[in-house]
Amino acid sequence: MNRREFFRITAGAATALRAADRPPNIVLIFADDLGYGDLGCYGGSIRTPNLDRLAAEGVRFTHFYSANPLCSPSRASLMTGRYPTRVGVPRVLGPKATDGLPDDETTLAQLLKARNYKTMCIGKWHLGHLPQYLPTRRGFDGYFGIPYSNDMTPTILMRNSAVIENPVRLETLTQRYTEEALRFLERSKGSPFFLYFPHTFPHIPLAASARFRGRSPLGLYGDVVEELDWSVGEVLGALRKHGLVDNTLVLFSSDNGPWYQGSPGRLRGRKGMTWEGGVREPFLGRWPGRIPAGKVIGGVASALDVVPTVARLCGAALPSKPLDGIDIWPLLSGARAELDREVLLYFDNIYVQCARWKQWKLHIARYSVARWSPAPPEGVVNLPLRQPELYNVVDDPDESYDVAPENPQIVRQMLARIEELMKTFPEPIRQAYAETKARKTSWTAVGNLPKPAAP
Ligand code: MG
Repeated sequence: MNRREFFRITAGAATALRAADRPPNIVLIFADDLGYGDLGCYGGSIRTPNLDRLAAEGVRFTHFYSANPLCSPSRASLMTGRYPTRVGVPRVLGPKATDGLPDDETTLAQLLKARNYKTMCIGKWHLGHLPQYLPTRRGFDGYFGIPYSNDMTPTILMRNSAVIENPVRLETLTQRYTEEALRFLERSKGSPFFLYFPHTFPHIPLAASARFRGRSPLGLYGDVVEELDWSVGEVLGALRKHGLVDNTLVLFSSDNGPWYQGSPGRLRGRKGMTWEGGVREPFLGRWPGRIPAGKVIGGVASALDVVPTVARLCGAALPSKPLDGIDIWPLLSGARAELDREVLLYFDNIYVQCARWKQWKLHIARYSVARWSPAPPEGVVNLPLRQPELYNVVDDPDESYDVAPENPQIVRQMLARIEELMKTFPEPIRQAYAETKARKTSWTAVGNLPKPAAP
């Protein structure tokens, strides 16, 4: 072996060693208000070849939950691994809000930053738009996107902490986000990176670029989702181009169920409801060689699990505060079909309304009026159900058959567990729980909205 060959071989070995030592890159793509039934790989009718391929090259979850059926609280839990009711973001932040995700909560970006990751947030943040709450103050090196929903005014586009467009041109947003993501991947390929890519769409008002407008047989919503799928394809293509595929964990999900358009598939309910359609989301994971290809995972998992799972894979320390999520790597890696886990709570605003344990879902409380009805009557109130309703959401995904009377033991166990868990929440949440329980409800049919009892 000559000198040159020796150096070539040892340099190659060192590169291989560094690649093995290097923690994985994380690409977390998040849609806004995308339905469980919108994607082709979930039985939907919209053409989503790139997401379908992502599912075919990785795993697809069928019981993955956001921690809340609305935008801000759902994102608060994705970023912290804790219930939104625990971190002080139980409801949607409007454009006049002066609060955001509190500073004493640790974000996934902060955890990865401590491991020298390059971090970037592209898209809708919605965890506070005042300077101290923006992504660049919460562990992200850079930010490009809209600070809250696209139906809130003023609709502004920001780079880091500066407003660069007002009003934002919505039709080109997905294109521009994507270009920004490709630039980030190009300049970050040499070190571990975390790309958090929460899209603005298909949250309304819908808008697609000229190239996609009118292309889908399923109208503007279809156009918008096709463009989103295109964007995913561009990101995956860039990973391929830079030789990053084998060392990058790609995750895809959505913050909550579909609103007035979009499909929850066979699930009951929509955005803003704790029926499954409001909170069960598509969830895809790909990491060739580490995650099996084409596997469907039925185990219960949550957006709460992203922080502990990613942190461990990346060798990052967990936050000091206790997490509600668990490490779901055994599910992602295909090693286990399901995990033993604590009862999962479904909150809407400050109210716990349902709980999931194994195949069971228990409803204990519900609003007295339909959420998002055109003119909600005054005095919407969270009421206890006269009798808790129990659904087997594995056999009965649309929550059509109450089996509480046949399973009193399961109902008792789950009620007891909810009671214990609620003791661990902050005082306003415990109080809301106690107040709901103390309210009186008159008789209504099983599955119906509860009515307050006459005084
Ligand atoms: Mg949303």
